[in-house]
Amino acid sequence: MSAAGFVLAINIFVAGLFAAAFGAVAWHSREAIGARWLAIAYGLGIVNAGLELVLPGQSDPRLLTLVVFAVALGAFLACVVGLACHYNKQVPWKTIGALGLVSVALNAAMMDQASSASFERAMVYQLPYFAVHLLGAAIVFRSGRRGPMDVTLLVFFVISGLQFVAKPFMVVSLGGATPDNYLHSLYGAYSQMLTAFLLIANGVLMLLIMVRDELAVLTIRSETDKLSGLWNRRGFEDHSERALVEARRAGVPSALVMADLDRFKRINDTLGHAHGDEVIAAFAGILMDNADKRMVVGRTGGEEFAVFVPGANLPAARLYAEAVRTAFSAKGPCLGVPGLSASFGVVELAEGETLGSAMRRADLALYDAKKKGRDQVSVVADGGVPGRRMGSRGS
Ligand code: GH3
Ligand code: MG
Ligand code: MG
Repeated sequence: MSAAGFVLAINIFVAGLFAAAFGAVAWHSREAIGARWLAIAYGLGIVNAGLELVLPGQSDPRLLTLVVFAVALGAFLACVVGLACHYNKQVPWKTIGALGLVSVALNAAMMDQASSASFERAMVYQLPYFAVHLLGAAIVFRSGRRGPMDVTLLVFFVISGLQFVAKPFMVVSLGGATPDNYLHSLYGAYSQMLTAFLLIANGVLMLLIMVRDELAVLTIRSETDKLSGLWNRRGFEDHSERALVEARRAGVPSALVMADLDRFKRINDTLGHAHGDEVIAAFAGILMDNADKRMVVGRTGGEEFAVFVPGANLPAARLYAEAVRTAFSAKGPCLGVPGLSASFGVVELAEGETLGSAMRRADLALYDAKKKGRDQVSVVADGGVPGRRMGSRGS
């Protein structure tokens, strides 16, 4: 087998592997539309490479040459669609359609020169591939994502594009881009090797990017509470721990607010569970509306919430809790629950105190607020525990 034929066979195998891998990602997650398009792209890659293998035996290779061109173009275009879907960019259907039609029409017009190895003919063949790769690079660029893998993919797409415009020059200097001698030519071997390299590099990168983003989505989902949209307990603890480390590094204080809705069972019993859910969601909305983006807001239990406030001391965190308390009570009539209220416990983290310890203290403060008649904010000074340090509490 010729060198080019050998690499071509490898390319078929590699394209098959990637088609299967992207197919598996698409199968795993219904939302991974990008992966579906990439599976199609690599599937077309297999067809393309297969056709290239049978091309040399044809007595009249003109039509098949055009089909090979169109299938490869289709594969690259599917890849662009996949990237656009994955990066949440609008698919440039009009550009894709125009590019596809014009390129196929131009190559059809030059069909009679299919067996010539001229520079112009090679340019008409390769230029569309260059354009499609620039389109792909533009999509990655416009996505605004600048992670190492995104930037590498962008660079690789530009390189991939450039190697296509380099090919006509290779044809001229190395000779041999006719269907007959392609597989046995030095040009064919170089061309297929370049394709193999970029096929693998781009494929691995896109696969890694998709798996990376898929994992991020899954992680966020596993840390988010569906009803309220807030972090669940795991998410809250995870993000608070990180915020605490950052706050300590910056040398600023941190505070913790815990909240529990008052007499919530009664709301469920009289108005129904669904109505109770609405109240929980409304309270979450108020917590978020009053928070700034550094704060970590979580639903830690049924109708229990926690807010980690980096950069805040006790009075600042207490102001936040009071604002939420007032807004929630005011919302009662609008939610069909007059007399709606919540109780709060607030602590400032002591030096070196763990999040767990602060949560226990805030919980005790909250319990204290309940005991004192609910609808209030109980504050515990630095390191203090309610019940032991009578008089140090607020409200
Ligand atoms: P307190 O003022 O002492 O807090 O009284 P409470 O009735 O609120 O007592 P508690 O906090 O123990 O009650 C929690 C209730 O919240 C019990 C449970 O039925 C209800 N609950 C827990 N999770 C959900 C939920 O997701 N939706 C609804 N609707 N209710 C929930
Ligand atoms: Mg309650
Ligand atoms: Mg409770």
